[in-house]
Amino acid sequence: MANKVRVRFAPSPTGGLHLGGVRTVLFNYLYAKKYHGDFIVRVEDTDQTRWVDGAEKYIFDCLDWCGLVPDESVLHGGPYAPYRQSERKPSYRQYAEQLIQQGNAYYAFDTAAELEAMREKLKTAGSNSLQYDHHIRMSMNNSLRLLPEETNALIDSGTPYVIRIKVNPNELIPFTDMIRGEMEFDTNTVDDKVLLKADGMPTYHLAVVVDDHLMKISHAFRGEEWLPSAPVHILLWKYLFGLDKMPNWAHLPLILKPDGNGKLSKRDGDRLGFPVYAMDWTDPISREITKGFKELGFLPEAFINLLAVLGWNDGTEQELFSLEELIEKFSIEKVHKGGAKFDYEKAKWFNQEWIKKLDIENYKERVKEIFLSKGISNIDDSYLGVVMNLVKERCTLLPDFYTQGVFFFDSPSNFDEASVKPKWDDSKKEYFTILMNQLKQLESWEAISIETIFKEIATEKNSKVGELQMILRVFLVGSKMGPGLFIIAETIGKLNTLERIEYALKVFEA
Ligand code: GLU
Repeated sequence: MANKVRVRFAPSPTGGLHLGGVRTVLFNYLYAKKYHGDFIVRVEDTDQTRWVDGAEKYIFDCLDWCGLVPDESVLHGGPYAPYRQSERKPSYRQYAEQLIQQGNAYYAFDTAAELEAMREKLKTAGSNSLQYDHHIRMSMNNSLRLLPEETNALIDSGTPYVIRIKVNPNELIPFTDMIRGEMEFDTNTVDDKVLLKADGMPTYHLAVVVDDHLMKISHAFRGEEWLPSAPVHILLWKYLFGLDKMPNWAHLPLILKPDGNGKLSKRDGDRLGFPVYAMDWTDPISREITKGFKELGFLPEAFINLLAVLGWNDGTEQELFSLEELIEKFSIEKVHKGGAKFDYEKAKWFNQEWIKKLDIENYKERVKEIFLSKGISNIDDSYLGVVMNLVKERCTLLPDFYTQGVFFFDSPSNFDEASVKPKWDDSKKEYFTILMNQLKQLESWEAISIETIFKEIATEKNSKVGELQMILRVFLVGSKMGPGLFIIAETIGKLNTLERIEYALKVFEA
């Protein structure tokens, strides 16, 4: 029986979650669900200098908002706990020691000053690489150059050391990427990376390989920016566990700036006025807030959909996919090799389409909050549902429910007089006075009856229906926008309709 599909998202808790990160989560998730596998979230926090307070919780909140629930994680537990690498610290050393025993790694005692001196020397010599590698390792302070007893003495006396991988020069490392196909890395470009730091903490390189092995990861999908690290990981797999045990890899293409020039960064979002993070992120030190898709009024369904098609499609023209459809149709081999340009207008289009399909009941609370924040309270739930249904076709972001729907709750405080004035004359005044009187008598307050009366009087008075409709709309809404006019009148009710017309008549009388 084939091994169970087990994929992992392995974030480092260093700040807000970039949309590229969420797309990595999504592709992992889709693959796991498609093949009835497990989706694991492992927190890679071994670099304590980059650890940021609140970042881990924020990542899980984002996943929760997106509905991408892990099967195993720090929060969800699981058979391979702990899922936070700092808590697994004691488990890594034995692998580093094993590599030393095998001759694939070595102790290095070089101080920061010595490393700096080495780089200076290489610079002066005009070397185009300043790396710690096979060119220079035999001139450095490490167990390859020292005698075993010298090495032991240094360790025994408590001299700080790191453990470095020993990369052999002039070797080609073949590699198959599920998106890029067959590739090859040249070991001459790979340096002797630190695997275990002086404080006993593993570096990312060692930890990622050990944990992917211990957690039985079958497929590892991550951003393209990790491709240069792949040769180190492949060598570690080869030396520690065997290449036949290595997960299948896929390096996902970058999400590019709108003009296609390089990776989309948070700074591009700030500069061009769109979000790049999934949710609002507050920097714990500066308290600076970076806007997120969620708070700007994106639906998770839309966010997921727009991310899925950044670099993937199912080979048809279809653009709108629910999560269930994505699970069914997703295939990692169909992910494009090239980067995908981010287009905010297109992102909003996705949201607009998903708002049209919105499950009103699920969003009432959120929309109510938006109204409340604008000072509209005492909202009746079923009335809100009716209004949301009427205006949803006109909304791009969730706060648009307020701008598109406020007049259903509040009489317009001022109205677009400029549009009405050129059309206003005594005949219009007479028309609206008659309309008011007849509407007062109307018993069944329904759009169709209101419309019938409205049109009958227009025919009697020989007035243009279009103009009259525009005027009534401005009276009821405040401007020329909104859904069907007579539906508006029916929804706001008889009293409000009459009051608004009466008020407008007074304004024009004055
Ligand atoms: N911890 C790495 C990151 O922060 C994960 C890279 C990987 O998935 O191997 O993105």
